Amino acid sequence: MTSMTPQQAAKMLTNKLVTIRVGPAKVEFAISKQLICTIPFFSKAFEGGFKESNGVMELVDEDEQVFSTFIVWLYSGKVSRANSQKDVDNLVKLYVFADLCCNTMLENRTIDAIAETFSRYDEPSITISMAKHVYETTPTNSLLRKWLIETLVYDLSRKYNYVGELPTKEALEFVYPLVIEFPEFYLDFFGMLRTNDLHRVVHGGRGDLDDLGCRFHIHGQGETCHRGEPALAAWKDPIPGEAVVFEDQE
Ligand SMILES: [Zn+2]
Repeated sequence: MTSMTPQQAAKMLTNKLVTIRVGPAKVEFAISKQLICTIPFFSKAFEGGFKESNGVMELVDEDEQVFSTFIVWLYSGKVSRANSQKDVDNLVKLYVFADLCCNTMLENRTIDAIAETFSRYDEPSITISMAKHVYETTPTNSLLRKWLIETLVYDLSRKYNYVGELPTKEALEFVYPLVIEFPEFYLDFFGMLRTNDLHRVVHGGRGDLDDLGCRFHIHGQGETCHRGEPALAAWKDPIPGEAVVFEDQE
């Protein structure tokens, strides 16, 4: 999603509205139909074969705060970095929602907002509940998982002083609930520790955003990154700016 001109935004605002009811409380959001239908997930609902009756859709499993952040991105093209642990948790949920909508532009913007937060502030951390949510809701090759694992490996090694060595008992106790519940977490975490990838996570997801480049982005072939040339330059370099590139599906 690129930023709109004021004229484009005004046109969107005068268009027909649809209503989306979000969360268990079914909080209502009135949104430009033309704008929301630029996202296939919603155009299928409002314009496709499963047309939602009377322009109303319900997303009872989504969080209204997360959906609010999604709407801000929809109208502005921007996702702001977090100011609290709760904000970080919401950004993680926003990434999962973007993945549900198959919207890689929003995924890339959101992972940048998360990475920028972790780069700037020491305080936010990978919590057990956050990691559980990520492993419950994302696919095996998710770049959110990759960011989480790299950041966690770095954070634990820094907290318990074992850089370049095996985790201490305290670090193992921290990850234990995740290891027993998610075999894929076990594989990702210990896989990161034992492979050559470890040298890439000197600062994990807390590295400078410019150094991270497109490391956690999804791009189609030849697609220009929203971060522009520096990020693209990093993308060409597998270390540290590696990115997943999918073949064009069209
Ligand atoms: Zn990129």
